[in-house]
Amino acid sequence: MKFSTICVKQPKDHLTTKPHQLPIYASSSFVFDKIEDGIEIFTGDKKGHVYSRYGNPTIDAVGQKLAELESFGLEGEYFGLMTSSGMSAISTVLSSLLRPGAKLITQGNLYGGTTELIKKVYGNAGTESYFVDLSDLNLLENYLKKHPEISVIYFETPSNPTLDCLDIQGICALAKTYDCVTVVDNTFCTPYLQKPLSFGVDYVIHSTTKYLSGHGNSIAGVIVGKEENRNGVWQYLKLNGTNCNPFDAWLVNNGLKTLALRMDKHSSNAMSLARYLSQKPEVSKVNYNGLETHPFHEVAKKQMCQFGGMLSFEMKEGKEAAIKFMNQLKLSTLAPTLGDVDTLILHPVTSSHLNVPKEMCLANGITDGLIRVSVGIEDFEDLKNDFESGFAI
Ligand SMILES: *Cc1c(COP(=O)(O)O)cnc(C)c1O
Repeated sequence: MKFSTICVKQPKDHLTTKPHQLPIYASSSFVFDKIEDGIEIFTGDKKGHVYSRYGNPTIDAVGQKLAELESFGLEGEYFGLMTSSGMSAISTVLSSLLRPGAKLITQGNLYGGTTELIKKVYGNAGTESYFVDLSDLNLLENYLKKHPEISVIYFETPSNPTLDCLDIQGICALAKTYDCVTVVDNTFCTPYLQKPLSFGVDYVIHSTTKYLSGHGNSIAGVIVGKEENRNGVWQYLKLNGTNCNPFDAWLVNNGLKTLALRMDKHSSNAMSLARYLSQKPEVSKVNYNGLETHPFHEVAKKQMCQFGGMLSFEMKEGKEAAIKFMNQLKLSTLAPTLGDVDTLILHPVTSSHLNVPKEMCLANGITDGLIRVSVGIEDFEDLKNDFESGFAI
């Protein structure tokens, strides 16, 4: 064999060694031993990989692990398809569900990007959507009765950034009666704290970018649902090219190993911080559904096993006070994400909700003085001291 051919050819691999850790399969395609094998894999008669946009051993392994976590304790088979981001998980599942003339119903206080996606992308493509208060089940039922074209109920609980909770079981019961499909964004809770499938939800999506990955170094998403619905979703993933990449899937797997430990600490720190903030005279309101005084405490208790790491609070003196507070923090970082191991703070009206109309923000409690906190897993004393410095004059 000549020099240039050796350059091109695949190095001898070591299929006899078994890695302890899931390897990153950085290969766009997969070879067949015989043409007959290829045909069987292409036709779906045999399991195997063809091309990484269709599926890849690293991505599929992590997707399946996420499905196992979401469906923990449930009968039946579930799929987990990883996507290039949380947004692509949402757009992939919605594209697969929305038929011409179909309508969607959702809440006003969604993740900002999701509101924009539904309004701009799906709105421009002719899908009409209703944004209503889904915590009012009578209101939801009225809409479903009046608009039989509604075929998808899309929601988040707890919602961003005011942590309102929706009754998953109640919504799913109405969905069944009115022949709708339900999709839930479970990013804030992770399956460790809340398992929407167990309450009758059809599809769960995540931005794995947040708690599931947990270390702020990957962007990806996942769609989980019943095995019988895999193909319907997968067609859209494959054809729109919204697949995850092996490296990000691998990072998510690393994060998942400590998910339970992290969520315990995120939750206990957030509970302590919420109690601390509730005592501060500068704070007019604390949104944390672990507080007995929170209007959604009972709903949260019914469907979450702990209350998670997200909270928000309102500075009595409004926007100026909020900005001053945030600039005075040293340990907590100003960053527009959540779910990392360190504490992150955000001012929704000037960042995540900048493109959401003011009336819609106000109707959902997103005021100028509102600060959102993604509480990290630091030692609580250090965290409290940092917040104390935020209140210093
Ligand atoms: C971040 C986030 C998304 C979008 O996820 P990306 O990974 O940024 O695309 C969707 N929903 C919620 C609740 C989020 O926090």
